[in-house]
Amino acid sequence: MEIREVRALEMLRQGHRVAESATPGEFLVASQAGRGIYRVEGVGLPGTFESCTCPDFAERVTAPCKHIYVVRHWLEAQSPADPAELEDLRRGTE
Ligand SMILES: [Zn+2]
Repeated sequence: MEIREVRALEMLRQGHRVAESATPGEFLVASQAGRGIYRVEGVGLPGTFESCTCPDFAERVTAPCKHIYVVRHWLEAQSPADPAELEDLRRGTE
């Protein structure tokens, strides 16, 4: 696993917050050092170029920065449970 992805997972484990913007595929992630907020775009939208406004991404451009990884993993955690699991939950409430 890429070091940036490892750091992203650590950030999420420590409760790093992600804010979803009103624009589809756009997210706001605070910098790990707490100095500013970066805008991540295009994550979770098929065929869209992923980008981030942090200096690390500006240098690399073709590879994701840790903020993009943060948003990817955050999105995975938000996605709805699979249908069978939802069915189980619904039966549990009846
Ligand atoms: Zn970034």
